[in-house]
Amino acid sequence: MSASALNGFTAATTVLKWLRAWYGENMPEAIDLDVVRQMLPTTRYGAGIREIKPPMALDIHSFEGSLVRNPKDASEWGIFYNASASPERIRFTIAHELGHLILHRAQQIRVECDKGGVTSGQFDDRNIEREANEFASNLLMPIDVLRRLLGDQRKVTLHLLSDIARTFQVSFEALCLRFIEATDQRAILVHWDQGFLKYQRPSSNARKTRALVRQSDTAQEPFAGTLAGDASMVQCFDGVECSAAIWCAEERAHMKLREFKHTFAGRDRVLTLLLLESAEPRDWDDSWKDELVPTVADRFCAIGKG
Ligand SMILES: [Zn+2]
Repeated sequence: MSASALNGFTAATTVLKWLRAWYGENMPEAIDLDVVRQMLPTTRYGAGIREIKPPMALDIHSFEGSLVRNPKDASEWGIFYNASASPERIRFTIAHELGHLILHRAQQIRVECDKGGVTSGQFDDRNIEREANEFASNLLMPIDVLRRLLGDQRKVTLHLLSDIARTFQVSFEALCLRFIEATDQRAILVHWDQGFLKYQRPSSNARKTRALVRQSDTAQEPFAGTLAGDASMVQCFDGVECSAAIWCAEERAHMKLREFKHTFAGRDRVLTLLLLESAEPRDWDDSWKDELVPTVADRFCAIGKG
């Protein structure tokens, strides 16, 4: 593989290939990052590295993780993580730092990552952060394993997505974002923070049919008549059916969707998953192709905010 082809996706795919060869039939669904850490120096991704020390906890607010080369020994590297984060979040951060080690150590002997960098919720412009997140997401939630665990995607519920998150040992939000990348359904994930829309992430087929949650220029609040807008309903893992037009301006009146709701972080945050009825891509409008043609679902970068 040429150096120019190395990115978060290709690096994670290669590491998974090595792990599958090493484990054989007994490959665990939850990737053991200690195995990855100890294996890397013996591979071409670890050229010049003698040892990656076991990850160490630091307790600094807003700090998420860091990758550091020993100033006295260039062949020794260390990873630090925020001790107060959830176990799933720490796992994601360690995978993210291993991504920096593979992808970026030639440019930087020290990488500091804050909470905005190690993130699942938003794409940012910081290329190396995006690449490290892409590595972690693809390593911890391999798309082929995810699709097998999902089974018949028309029967997806938050119960199933929550079970799969536990299987992979990732946060629920990270798994929901990965589902959006993996699904062939029309689906949209919406994150509400303190009652306002923080982000929405449509699946590839949702984009192709222009299914997007309506959003005003000002801070968008949940719509009346939806689960998201019903404060008395905290969780709804089975989902309820409603008219798709309530959520998406371009949906026809007869189209339906299933709305699911998960409230977390002391009720400050809500994840809404919308599974829409299938619809044909809107052939008369080709503008979506410009943005989407080079992108396959497996390559979308996302990640795991716990
Ligand atoms: Zn980083």
